[in-house]
Order: sequence, then C-alpha cells, then structure tokens
Amino acid sequence: MNCAVDLHMHSCLSPCGDELMTPNNLSKMSVLKGLDLIALTDHNTARQLPATAKVCGELGLGLLPGMEITTREEVHLLAYFRTVEEALDFSDFLYPHLPPIPNRPDYFGHQWIMDEEDEIVEEEEKLLISAVDLSIDSLAKEIIGRGGLAIPAHINRGSNSILSALGFIPPFTKFSGLEIARSFPCPPDPSIGKYKHLHSSDAHRLEDILEREEFLPLAAPTPEAFFAYMLS
Ligand SMILES: [Zn+2]
Ligand SMILES: [Zn+2]
Repeated sequence: MNCAVDLHMHSCLSPCGDELMTPNNLSKMSVLKGLDLIALTDHNTARQLPATAKVCGELGLGLLPGMEITTREEVHLLAYFRTVEEALDFSDFLYPHLPPIPNRPDYFGHQWIMDEEDEIVEEEEKLLISAVDLSIDSLAKEIIGRGGLAIPAHINRGSNSILSALGFIPPFTKFSGLEIARSFPCPPDPSIGKYKHLHSSDAHRLEDILEREEFLPLAAPTPEAFFAYMLS
C-alpha cells in the first residue's frame, strides 16, 4: 500500500520546537492531516518518544522512532529505530557526548518532556541543539550497529547539511538513504542517485506537518515495513 508519511518533525522537547508541539497535539494533527506513519525526530534525544508512542497507539497512527543528531561537523543526521527502547538506548549513549551547555529557555525556548496526557514531567536542562563530539562516520556506524538507519537530513539545505559541511556524500559511510528538503532544488550530484530519498516537513509547528503529500510503498504503516522498504 502507499502510505502517507512525514518522517521528520520536532516536539516541544527540541529547543526550537513550538510549545504547542506536544505528544497529543502533533499526533492528533497528523491524524487530521490524513497521515499513516510519522516519525518524531527531536534534536539529540528520544525522550519524548514514550509518551508520543502511547498517544499514536491509541489513535491507530504509525510511529517510527527517530532522532536528529547534530554531528561534530555540525551536520544533521537522522537516526531511525524499530522500537522506542532502541531509540532510548541510543539517546542514553549520546547524552554524555553533548557538551554541558545549559539551555536558555528565554532564548531557545523550554525543553519539556511530557507524559501521554501532555503533563510536563521534566525539563531537560542541557541544551539539546549543540553538536555532539562524534563524527558523522562514527555516528552512522553506531546507529547501524544498533540495528538502526542513518540518513543525512536535508542534504540540499545551505546549513547543517552534509553537502554544505563536507561538499559531498562520503562514499565509505553506509548511509541508509538521504533526506532531500522539499523547499529547495536537489543538487545534480551523481552520487545522490544511488540512495533512496525521503521528503519530510521538518515541522517545528503544528501547521507545518505535511498533509497526504509524500507516499512510500510500505506493506503497512509500521517501523518494520519502513525498515523492509529502506533495506530492500
Ligand atoms: Zn535539521
Ligand atoms: Zn529537524
């Protein structure tokens, strides 16, 4: 079946994510927009996934557990996992690699971790948008070694992208696909053609979540089916 997907969005746990991007709001807006499978990809953390998975489960909406990591090169790298537990394990691994810079809520916004009722259970105090001290190559190896998928984000954007930072897609790194931002032209780099491409919203606000615009040929709107497609 063709599944309507949006596989890159941020909750209110990301410092740049709107405070209205709560687990309930982003899941229910995705249902209203007619999506079948979404991914929550907060910056350098998976800690909003447990509550979001509970809400999505009740709504019958597919949730792909994800994160968007800022690498040492300031490149944004998407990681997808089959389960929330795998994503949380990776999030715990990553946390000590984030520099001990505190968030400034007045400047960046709050970093709220919520439960499935959208009640605030914790405020993350370390700034989540910082770069970790690991290279894109070592992060891709770590993600893939844990059974995940490593996909450079918005490669055609002018900042925080693999092409803006490195100028090319390193052929020795085993990326599982590439994300091409919808709002910019795709560069004519021949190395891009050999990967599967994803097109997502990178929504930080409810209104930016995609409608039924991007489709993937998945057997079902589930992480397993997404992995089967990306690895085929
Ligand atoms: Zn990004
Ligand atoms: Zn993003």
